[in-house]
Amino acid sequence: MQPICTYCGRPIIGKYLKDYWGNSYCAEHIKAVPQCDYCGRLISPKTTRGGKTYSDGRRICGICLPKAVTENQTGRELLGKVHDLLEETGIMIQPFKPDFALISRSRLKQLDRRGGEKQGFATFKRRMVKAKITSFKMEIFILNGLPESSFISTCAHELMHIWFYSRNITDASPALIEGSCNMAAYLILKKQGTLEAEYLIKGLFEDKNKIYGAGFRKIQKLTDKRGTSGWLEYAIKHKRI
Ligand SMILES: [Zn+2]
Ligand SMILES: [Zn+2]
Ligand SMILES: [Zn+2]
Repeated sequence: MQPICTYCGRPIIGKYLKDYWGNSYCAEHIKAVPQCDYCGRLISPKTTRGGKTYSDGRRICGICLPKAVTENQTGRELLGKVHDLLEETGIMIQPFKPDFALISRSRLKQLDRRGGEKQGFATFKRRMVKAKITSFKMEIFILNGLPESSFISTCAHELMHIWFYSRNITDASPALIEGSCNMAAYLILKKQGTLEAEYLIKGLFEDKNKIYGAGFRKIQKLTDKRGTSGWLEYAIKHKRI
């Protein structure tokens, strides 16, 4: 049977594309119709009950928009939950008193000069006395307006950066660090058990980036073999993956 296009409602003739959510579209719409930056659906009244473009240019559909995190208080609560979930898996960050704020895309770019399109940033300032950390201050910034699953995943990623900082691990390879941070995101997403979380997990496995994607897949394999504690031990003892 000829599939029906979710966007135009007509039977599809010739080439068509299917998205993660089971929608089929005529191939010609893919270039012409904006896609949601967070779920990949084509944005239209029929497919997503519309959507909007944030002032910084990001596009979000009407299905993701109601779940967008736009209040600092909501963000702080979710961050606390993610921290507790990470502890359940053995990723300990104690004491945990972060400064937290949702920030704009331009502010995030200013903070993170390494470039690339990031969704969060973490800083850690500490005082050392005789090679021991005596006091520290952590700050976590997350991009404003992320749908909840993306927000949670980003929190886990940034918290894992804090895990490294708080153990004074600053000279490990980017693939080991970012791969581990994505591993923390993966563990938290798995616990969500939602389709949105599964979609993001698929993105982690398919990420072509040599640091973030390849790093994650290596860490994931290592963790499969040695468990979370084996991975964390490895991360403490080694400089690269
Ligand atoms: Zn169509
Ligand atoms: Zn969406
Ligand atoms: Zn990172």
